[in-house]
Amino acid sequence: MAKTADSKTATEAAGTKTGTGKAPRARSAAETEKIRAALSERRDELRLEYDQTMSEIAELQRDRLTDSAGDDQADTGTKTFEREQEISLANSIQERISQVERALERLDDGTYGWCERCGNTIPVERLAAFPSATLCVTCKQLEERR
Ligand SMILES: [Zn+2]
Repeated sequence: MAKTADSKTATEAAGTKTGTGKAPRARSAAETEKIRAALSERRDELRLEYDQTMSEIAELQRDRLTDSAGDDQADTGTKTFEREQEISLANSIQERISQVERALERLDDGTYGWCERCGNTIPVERLAAFPSATLCVTCKQLEERR
């Protein structure tokens, strides 16, 4: 009498692999915080720089009003030029501040810090240096080569 072997088919071993649960585009909260910290620091630096520039402008303005009687024309010209330089500096700092602020807003949306071209994350260091960066270094270099 042949015993019917009660053999279990070993399908379990070949069970379907479940995903690792790691989405490639998921950034950890810690990483987001790192970017936020870097951007906030950058904004504070820029604000300080902006305040300094503004007080220099005020000083140049004061000089112009108080000692202009004693200045020769060339000197006045230099001061006007200096003042214009400072004003354009102040404007560009302000523009950078708003770039950082926009970046911080986008960071909250979760749409910030991804390369528009390849979809990889843009390194924190790059974002801190160029808050408006929308491409990773590799893609940026490819763009520039064209
Ligand atoms: Zn890229």
